[in-house]
Amino acid sequence: MVRRFLARILILDIHEDFGGHASRNEFQINDRRIIGYGGTMLLEAPGGFPDVATKLIKDLGIETQRFYKYFDQDLYPSLGLSRGLFFDEETFGSDHLAVGDITDPSVLAHSPLSAKARSDLVRLYKNDQHYLHDIPADQRGAILKNMDYRTYLKDYAGMDDEVLKVMQSAARSVWAVNIDAYPAYDAWSEAYPGFGDLNLGAGSSDHQEDLDEPYIFHFPDGNASIARLLVRKMIPAVASGDNMEDIVTARFDYGQLDNPQSPVRIRLNSTVVRAQHAGNNLSNPVKKTCLRRHLKPLSEKFGSSCPEYSRPEVLMQHGTSLQSLSTGGHMVMLTGMTRSLVKSPSTRIHGPKKNVTG
Ligand SMILES: Cc1cc2nc3c(=O)[nH]c(=O)nc-3n(C[C@H](O)[C@H](O)[C@H](O)COP(=O)(O)OP(=O)(O)OC[C@H]3O[C@@H](n4cnc5c(N)ncnc54)[C@H](O)[C@@H]3O)c2cc1C
Repeated sequence: MVRRFLARILILDIHEDFGGHASRNEFQINDRRIIGYGGTMLLEAPGGFPDVATKLIKDLGIETQRFYKYFDQDLYPSLGLSRGLFFDEETFGSDHLAVGDITDPSVLAHSPLSAKARSDLVRLYKNDQHYLHDIPADQRGAILKNMDYRTYLKDYAGMDDEVLKVMQSAARSVWAVNIDAYPAYDAWSEAYPGFGDLNLGAGSSDHQEDLDEPYIFHFPDGNASIARLLVRKMIPAVASGDNMEDIVTARFDYGQLDNPQSPVRIRLNSTVVRAQHAGNNLSNPVKKTCLRRHLKPLSEKFGSSCPEYSRPEVLMQHGTSLQSLSTGGHMVMLTGMTRSLVKSPSTRIHGPKKNVTG
């Protein structure tokens, strides 16, 4: 039986490209096109995905097993590279490269660290105990959620100041922040050193699954390929091709994104400032949406149809463009690549709910 979907869907995004954080970087250097990820990088531990995510990935044609072939896990060893730690003169007084496992005391023997800092660093990585024994077990999770990782290392683990300097950039490569802006709870959940045998219940098992799968499930442009696969699936006219390989170099016709003939449309450069269900009833379609097409101060753009703004210019009002996609009393609005649940008729949409993923 052929199932027909009558819903018409409009996806709105502030940005000039779709995908949200799953963005793609492209550089043309002479006759070479270089592709890289602009944001979210990889599918983390897809073996532990919930059924709905596994199905989505499959529906998009992504075979995660193929990454074992595509991703060269031996690249660095084959180039004679190994792990190491660089101490820069600016921070540590002299430039020094320590090559090898830093928990091996001989690797740090000639580093610019004091004996106390070297011993603390080894303790940080080797200690199988955590540092929250004075805190009742049922309060440890909450304490970590309200503390940055640096504070945990300094005030609870008692790490030397030089160790804090070594660790300062530990979260930077993935999260783009230093450890004084990285939650201690996340550090525990992501298996950063210093938490030993700490068991906070929820999260522990996910954590083990993450450790069991390698960090290889990424396209050359990171998760932008997933966003592109989604868009090609929803709006087939936008690009040719039909598999996870050809999406990487597929050219997208952006003129097809907001085609009135298409049941799914994506409108870029458009900011949602208000969405409201007809009759204040959550099961009704969204009745009104105010948009500004190009970023300008709010005070210049919105007026009578958005009572909270006083100037009388409203660029668009959609009576029926945004449709209810789901039952259960929630209008589902798509921004970026995931759904935002609008739970109250008067909710202002500032953006989608953040997925809690690595
Ligand atoms: C540093 C970092 C690294 C990460 N690495 C990974 C990773 O490797 N793998 C992974 O799975 N996850 C990773 N994540 C998490 C991942 O980025 C998020 O889970 C994901 O981006 C959430 O997707 P989303 O579509 O819900 O939101 P977003 O990607 O944030 O997209 C939201 C979109 O909505 C638009 N928007 C917001 N407000 C409005 C409005 N009022 N009107 C119109 N449009 C609006 C925004 O412009 C944006 O394009 C990482 C996160 C960070 C911060």
